[in-house]
Parts: sequence; C-alpha cells; structure tokens
Amino acid sequence: KSRAQRIDPGEHAKKFKDVAGLKEEKEELEEIVDFLANPAKYTGIGARIPKGILLVGPPGTGKTLLAKAVAGEAGVPFFSLSGSDFVEMFVGVGASRVRDMFAEAKKNAPCIVFIDEIDAVARKRGSGLGGGHDEREQTLNQMLVEMDGFGVNEGIIVMAATNRVDILDPAILRPGRFDRRVTVGRPDVRGREEILQVHAKGKPLGDDVDLKKIAQTTVGFTGADLENLMNEAAIACAKDGRKFIEQEDISKSFIKVGIGKEKKSKIIS
Ligand code: ATP
Repeated sequence: KSRAQRIDPGEHAKKFKDVAGLKEEKEELEEIVDFLANPAKYTGIGARIPKGILLVGPPGTGKTLLAKAVAGEAGVPFFSLSGSDFVEMFVGVGASRVRDMFAEAKKNAPCIVFIDEIDAVARKRGSGLGGGHDEREQTLNQMLVEMDGFGVNEGIIVMAATNRVDILDPAILRPGRFDRRVTVGRPDVRGREEILQVHAKGKPLGDDVDLKKIAQTTVGFTGADLENLMNEAAIACAKDGRKFIEQEDISKSFIKVGIGKEKKSKIIS
C-alpha cells in the first residue's frame, strides 16, 4: 500500500479531457505541461522551472486526477505516494520510501512526483495532534532534502495535494520548494454538468434523465460525489436487469450518496 505507484505514459494515461470543469486550474497547469514537454525552451533563456506545485482543495475535487493528467499530457511518467501511508509506520521506513521514490524519479526524468495528503506528513512540527511524531518528521525532512537536492532544471516536478494548507509546516512553502499554489474548488453548476457528462459515458440513460437538472440539484457535490452518484444509479439499474438508467435510479442514489456524505462530514467534524 505504501509503496510508490508508477503510471507510465500510454493508452491509459489521463488527459485534460478526462478532467471536467476546472478550466482555470487546467490553464494554470498547462504551463507545467509545457515545461515538462519542452524544458529546453525555458532553460535556454535562463528561466527557472518551478519544482513544487501545491494543489489545494476539498477531498474528491479532482486533485489527483489533475496531477495524473499533467503527466499524461506531457507524456511523462507519474510517481505517487500518499502522506497518510506513513502515519503508522516504523521510524525510518517513510524516509526510505521517499528516498527510493525520488531515486526512481531522477532515473526517469522528466516526470511528475505526486504526494497525496501531504498534510499527514508535513503538518507544522509540534502542532498538537501527534506532535513530536518522529516518523513523520523524518519523512518530512527526507522530502525537503530530496526537493533541495535535485537541480532546478532536472525535469522533476513535485505536485502535492492537501485540503489543509493552514496546518502545513512553513518550511515546505519556502521558495524552491512548493512555491506555486493552485486552488481546486468545488464545481459550479456548469462544472457539475460537465463532470456528470464524463461519468455518464458508457452508461445508457433513459429519456427522462436530464444531466443539466441533476447538476442544478447537486450543489456542494464534488467530482468524486458525482462519480459515485452515477455509479450507484448504474448498479441499481443493473440489479433490476434494466438496460437504461432512469431518473428514479438517480434520485434513489442521490439519497444514498447524500447520506454517506453527511456521515463522513460528521466524523471529520
Ligand atoms: P482526495 O483529496 O480525496 O485524494 P482528490 O481531489 O485527489 O481527492 P480525485 O482522487 O482526483 O480527488 O477524484 C476522485 C474521483 O472523482 C476521480 O477519480 C474521478 O472519477 C472523480 N472526479 C473528481 N473530479 C473530477 C473532475 N473534475 N472531472 C471528472 N471526474 C472527477
């Protein structure tokens, strides 16, 4: 579980077209794609390519998907680890996993290194909750060592995701580390409709299903919630042995997904 994942460019690579909505976010990241695809264009005129980009936004809004799409668009490999994998680990293991991943990344540059839930590792030192956690600090220190260690134009771009930028250790936000930030918001009505269209692909819809209307009634839903909604509806339809997903299936799964969301937020708060 805690080993780095690797996705190589190819048929299954994610592309920007797989990321619905998030127009401004994609525009901001287009530059990163160009850095990775044409590094000489920038280094040739003395430009310093950014090392780290922090994606900030609520869970399920498509941060991982965006990072994968940047790698896919640039045609470079994608390496990833999740901060939460290190929480219960023996001292030293997290740091060595980080070291191994960066060693692999260097061999495969240009590439993207993605760290999901970076706040699990990079929360402010001594900030209450699990303060003085040796394992976490060692993992964080190793991450900083690695980021400082590779040259600015080595072709590795580190992307990290968090929904808690407020608790991050300021050390990781210093220039030359994660000095760029892209905010990934919850989708608006237009974004929700586009996300629904992506996740309705391959799912035959009955005549009474109007994605625009569903978009209007799913205020606050993230991309992950909408994906879940369409999937639950498809399951309900298949269970009944019907060929077309009806509005009734979606209404029922709306209640199911909606209740699930409520439960989750209660646990968090
Ligand atoms: P977390 O912080 O929980 O890791 P995240 O922001 O990284 O969440 P993703 O893992 O990228 O979210 O999204 C989960 C799933 O939700 C995606 O695999 C995709 O199916 C769907 N999804 C989210 N956002 C979008 C989007 N903008 N377009 C299409 N699908 C989306």
